[in-house]
Amino acid sequence: MSSNPEHQHKCPACGATLVLDKLRLDCPSCGGTFVDGDELGAILLGADETPEIQWVDSAESTRRQCPLCEIRMHAAFLWKVPVERCGVHGTWFDVGELPKLLEAEGCPAESSELPDARPRE
Ligand SMILES: [Zn+2]
Ligand SMILES: [Zn+2]
Repeated sequence: MSSNPEHQHKCPACGATLVLDKLRLDCPSCGGTFVDGDELGAILLGADETPEIQWVDSAESTRRQCPLCEIRMHAAFLWKVPVERCGVHGTWFDVGELPKLLEAEGCPAESSELPDARPRE
């Protein structure tokens, strides 16, 4: 058997097969989305702007695995929204988190209100 070029990516939240939508992987079951790093900047800030995304990374790993490389993602906060990240492939958003971010984007959180999480070294 030859390897399948249409490798199926599993949803880190519910295990359903993710549907590729350009640079995003959408879960038709739970509504979560995995977004490539560059694409995330374009979604949040517009393609013409230099991405200045305010990450607060946590060293804490989560139980969820990156749909691409299957290593455990780590917890992070994007503005105030808790997300999970694979440092290589992108960011996982549960359903509703991405819209929340798009709303919050106009008023980025003051850093003093962010949870106590140290940047990764
Ligand atoms: Zn899912
Ligand atoms: Zn990965």
